[in-house]
Amino acid sequence: MARYTGAVCRLCRREKEKLFLKGTKCSTEKCPLSRRAYFPGQHGQKRRLKLSNYGLQLREKQKVKRMYGVLEKQFRRYFHIAARSKGVTGKILLQILERRLDNLIFRSGFALSHAQARQIVRHNFVYVNSRRVNIPSYLVRANDTINIKAKEKSVKFIKDNIELSKERTVPKWLQVDGKKFEIKVLRLPEKEDIQQPIQEQLIVELYSK
Ligand code: SF4
Repeated sequence: MARYTGAVCRLCRREKEKLFLKGTKCSTEKCPLSRRAYFPGQHGQKRRLKLSNYGLQLREKQKVKRMYGVLEKQFRRYFHIAARSKGVTGKILLQILERRLDNLIFRSGFALSHAQARQIVRHNFVYVNSRRVNIPSYLVRANDTINIKAKEKSVKFIKDNIELSKERTVPKWLQVDGKKFEIKVLRLPEKEDIQQPIQEQLIVELYSK
């Protein structure tokens, strides 16, 4: 299973936007985006800022991919599924991304970043409707119940995550019980449930060329 293993803060700096890829550090002054608000790399400070239409579309796609920790092949596959489905392609694409099991663990506050959420899933801690699921890209459905059953030494780590993320707003499509380590999917997510600004129509335009 391929994944990006490089420095994540440079991804935020490349997009000039906080993508919250590093957990608690993201909300502190230590965030490199506040100290070095220019592109990463040797010539980062000299790079021109004006983007063509294509550039805008490409950057939006890269930003969303990076936010959810999805690589190009899988992202394109999500787009094709969305394009074949009934409804507005961009919105369905976002819905698919939000329904990923690792995203759900992150949104519920059991993990501080998508990478951490993916690790929790891969370590066999997550059960969907009482069945163990260790695939981060698994797509949840409305009325699913997700439980986290961690080993004793990992319980503290997850409890700490809940404590550290208590300031974060849990999206309305989820009901989270931090004591029982349980999440209920009340309905499918809508674009309005995503707090970060995304211009999904730019991604649709890019892939529709
Ligand atoms: Fe992005 Fe978080 Fe790194 Fe800041 S600390 S640049 S928000 S990953």
